[in-house]
Amino acid sequence: AKTSGKNRHRVFNEEMDRRLVRKLGLEKDMRRALVRGEFFVLYQPKWDARHQQPAGVEALVRWKHPDIGTISPAEFIPIAEETGLIVPLTRWVLQEACLQNRRWQEEGLPSQKVAVNLSIRVFESQNLGEMVGEALQLSSLAPEYLELEITESLLLYDIEDIVRQLEELRGLGVTVAMDDFGSGYSALGSLDKMPIDTLKIDQLFIRESNLESKQAIILAIIMMARQLNLRLVAEGVETEAQMAFLRSSGCDVMQGYYYGKPMTEQEIQSWMERSLP
Ligand code: C2E
Ligand code: CA
Ligand code: CA
Ligand code: CA
Repeated sequence: AKTSGKNRHRVFNEEMDRRLVRKLGLEKDMRRALVRGEFFVLYQPKWDARHQQPAGVEALVRWKHPDIGTISPAEFIPIAEETGLIVPLTRWVLQEACLQNRRWQEEGLPSQKVAVNLSIRVFESQNLGEMVGEALQLSSLAPEYLELEITESLLLYDIEDIVRQLEELRGLGVTVAMDDFGSGYSALGSLDKMPIDTLKIDQLFIRESNLESKQAIILAIIMMARQLNLRLVAEGVETEAQMAFLRSSGCDVMQGYYYGKPMTEQEIQSWMERSLP
């Protein structure tokens, strides 16, 4: 038993080493990845189930590493945040998403919002307004077609500073969505002070929306959003049952595998063409 305990320990350490080596490698490679054009953006559709029409897309970044293959943002975004590379990466994603959305408009597709995720780190970099303004200018995309997704954890930071920056962003004409709502740090206390337009109910609640207890929470969030005059989006909708429950509860806009996975620009373009009335 002693040996196997020791063995377990050794295996555990090797696993830790492997992870650390991979992380350090990614950290190093990421510095070149941007200039080498290894990042790309997928787009996931949102669907307005009441009006039966597309309700915008969310830009989700991927990294095509030359040796490892495609790496998930769940792995490399935290590293980008630690190293500060999140700032140039976000600048690139913003430009890419705005340019792409403008291209779709030029090709005659109905105009819709593209949403870009912002990490807290880019709020600390202080020239966020400039960065967003540049992306809009570069792409000549009208600001109402850009949405910025932030998360609740932002509220752990200097709220007044965050509010000021969000107001500056909305002053440009873009909209702001609170992502992963209800997932962690409770944002309830300051939700009414936040200059936002949209609440996105966290996937966690949708995944367990067969449970009465989770249904109660979803209903409460829907009611609250309505009272606060916020648009509402449910994410992680995977099944018809989930869609039906949300619909009957008064949540109209949905995002999830039930409607469409994150897709390449060509794939989503044909998805949009197919879903036109
Ligand atoms: P998120 O913003 O909450 O994005 C939703 C995630 O859920 C995406 O994972 C999406 O592919 C996945 N998803 C969508 N529908 C379903 C569904 O029906 N079922 C399940 N199981 N999953 C679904 P993804 O693309 O791997 O992104 C993970 C996270 O990485 C994002 O979570 C976001 O926080 C972050 N991220 C992605 N792109 C960017 C970016 O450009 N900048 C920043 N700062 N973060 C990003
Ligand atoms: Ca998001
Ligand atoms: Ca989310
Ligand atoms: Ca998330």
